[in-house]
Amino acid sequence: MAQVLIIGASRGIGLELVKQHRDGGDTVVATARDEESLTRLRALGATAIKLEVGDVQSIAGLAWQLDGFHFDRVMYVAGVYGPRTIGLQPPSVADFDAVMHTNVLGPMRVLPQILDALAPDARIGIVSSRMGSIGLRANSAGWVYRASKAAVNSVMKDVAMTLDGRAICVSLHPGWVKTDMGGQEADIDVATSASSLRAVLDGLKAGDNGAFFNYDGSPLPW
Ligand code: NDP
Repeated sequence: MAQVLIIGASRGIGLELVKQHRDGGDTVVATARDEESLTRLRALGATAIKLEVGDVQSIAGLAWQLDGFHFDRVMYVAGVYGPRTIGLQPPSVADFDAVMHTNVLGPMRVLPQILDALAPDARIGIVSSRMGSIGLRANSAGWVYRASKAAVNSVMKDVAMTLDGRAICVSLHPGWVKTDMGGQEADIDVATSASSLRAVLDGLKAGDNGAFFNYDGSPLPW
């Protein structure tokens, strides 16, 4: 059975990934930032690690907490949407910082901490969004969020290049998903999204390293 690390598993897509991997018999390590979620994750059978991806002190301890694990799969899920603006409304500095710290600086700090805990041929999925695709851009709603997901795609690419030949790292759009972030009018439920993302990771080939995929496995433009 596989060893799996889910970053950002308190709710939504991350929590569902924990449940599905647990049901599949995998060894699951999952992170959350509040005690209630950590207790819930432990009750699900996961090894739960406290992690606030916006806090450098919290991240600093991660590598040694992962010592001894050899992850076949890593899914980086934690993210925030920020202000739901329409059009070119400049964000406040506080809103800009909150979104960029979580969605961009978080992965830049967290991912280097996990590299020593990867199994050979590990697959790493960074949950981005098609809203970060510049090629698909049709409007500017959620201006900061879009910029943050375009930026995290760049972060992913550098991780992929660093790991080339050792692991496969990709950006993933999870679909428009019924979660706190996606809302209940969204297209698909968390179970469909999580199982689809797992299937995409399972199906990756070496040449996919550094690519951007939709949850159905089709490639997305940058
Ligand atoms: P939710 O809002 O349901 O969950 C967000 C998760 O991120 C929670 O576990 C939350 O933890 C965690 N998180 C946020 N900020 C931090 C932080 N600073 N430190 C640690 N954990 C943090 O969102 P979804 O499950 O819908 O989204 C998951 C990912 O999928 C996100 O990256 C999102 O951008 C992306 N996505 C979602 C889409 C959708 O339609 N739902 C569409 C496209 C992309 P906590 O409970 O502590 O806040």
